[in-house]
Amino acid sequence: MTRAAIPTTGEDHGEILASMKSMRGQDADWKHGRTWSLVYFAGDAHHQLLQDSHNMFFAENALNPMAFKSIKRMEAEVIAMSASMLHGPDDACGTMTTGGTESILMAVKAARNRARARGPKTQRPEIVAPSTAHPALIKAAHYFGLHVRKIPVGPDYRADVRAMRKAMNKNTVLLFASAPQYPHGVIDPIDELGRLALEWGVPFHVDACIGGFVLPWIEKLGHALPTFDFRVPGVTSMSADLHKYGFAVKGASVVIYRDMSYLEHQFFVETDFPGGVYASPTMTGTRGGGPIAAAWAALHAVGEDGFMEHTRIAMDAAQRLQQGIVAIPELQLVGKPDATLVAWCARDRAVDIYAVADRLEDAGWSVDRQHRPACIHHTVTSNHATVVDEYLADLRDAVAFVKSHPEVSARGNAAMYGMMAKIPFRGMVKQGVVQVLRGMYGPDAATFDPTKVGQDDGVMGKVMDVVGPTLNKVLDQVDRMRDAVRSR
Ligand SMILES: *Cc1c(COP(=O)(O)O)cnc(C)c1O
Repeated sequence: MTRAAIPTTGEDHGEILASMKSMRGQDADWKHGRTWSLVYFAGDAHHQLLQDSHNMFFAENALNPMAFKSIKRMEAEVIAMSASMLHGPDDACGTMTTGGTESILMAVKAARNRARARGPKTQRPEIVAPSTAHPALIKAAHYFGLHVRKIPVGPDYRADVRAMRKAMNKNTVLLFASAPQYPHGVIDPIDELGRLALEWGVPFHVDACIGGFVLPWIEKLGHALPTFDFRVPGVTSMSADLHKYGFAVKGASVVIYRDMSYLEHQFFVETDFPGGVYASPTMTGTRGGGPIAAAWAALHAVGEDGFMEHTRIAMDAAQRLQQGIVAIPELQLVGKPDATLVAWCARDRAVDIYAVADRLEDAGWSVDRQHRPACIHHTVTSNHATVVDEYLADLRDAVAFVKSHPEVSARGNAAMYGMMAKIPFRGMVKQGVVQVLRGMYGPDAATFDPTKVGQDDGVMGKVMDVVGPTLNKVLDQVDRMRDAVRSR
């Protein structure tokens, strides 16, 4: 192995850019709508504006707002614009962060510290959340020493308010729900949960990371939506990602609080550092000016009319996608999506959806596999309007192929995902995934191929080779028995 090192002499700019461009050749084609997640593209002109505005401020550092008043002002205005959109009260305030995860980390940290500051100290602060809450919440609890009570959702995949009510106790420092939740695209009953939060006098965070910059426009377009934002009295904080439907540059999200009495617990101040008193509003120290500037530019450039138009097109595409899926007899929708997130699963047992996903990938689509239930997820944007028909045609072909070639479900990715979804020993799954991470971030990271894990001589691979096929059969049997019980 030759390890990469900084070249002894600096290289030619043109050659550097050329080699980066060639590396890009293997990446997913987001620009032409082939990725059903990860990238939110609002057209070439907007893209250019993002580059220009980001580049204008990429050297500035928001760590010191005194030095860069421009950045401070843009951040304040992005917060204000977002708070207005989400019907925050006049006292609403917040910070920009690097993304949804950081926004959620901050909301959790603020809730924990607020509880510490106010009451008798709880040894074991808890968060009550539906099982569909984004992993960023679990990560926050993992980092900050809280416990999440994950409450199973109802048959419609929405938070089960009665069960969440039962889970509340004196250790609860935060109630958490999503608008919408990511896996099935449905909005939790924010209104009822808001009342629950008020009864208990605990903060209530609404994770609108993906919905924040699309639900307001869906509502304005006249679609019936439950109230999901600060209009619900119990809601005390919200996260909304500018780098998703806000069409900003990656590294931009907002966390907004009802008033300063919540936000102040997010701040960090160290007074003894020899380098001076150090204050920081969020997780990071140095904060790039680029994402803040580009987010400010994005909101100004798109404007309400632009957001309405993008949302109208995306909703139309999402609806056409749903109609197309429903028309395939072997498939069905998962839940009744409220917004532009659509998931489908198999209605026909003979169709292994992970094998369908593999076929779609071979046809150049990048799709997201979910489990519980086993399904395929799409984040639909205006950029997908022109590819929906082509996708549906490929989907019909893929389903037909898998149905007539059942053996493909035992191969490659399909086999791995199928196993990961069904295996009851989650500790074993975690171990396998950690093995992949070790490879991806270890000394051989540059040449590591994650698809090879499990096939090599790793312990996990060996174990799965031996017990895998039997285990799969047993699990299938269990599935069939469950189906039989259900259909009675
Ligand atoms: C994307 C997302 C997050 C996490 O945001 P990142 O920007 O990926 O850190 C959290 N919650 C929901 C519902 C999301 O869709």
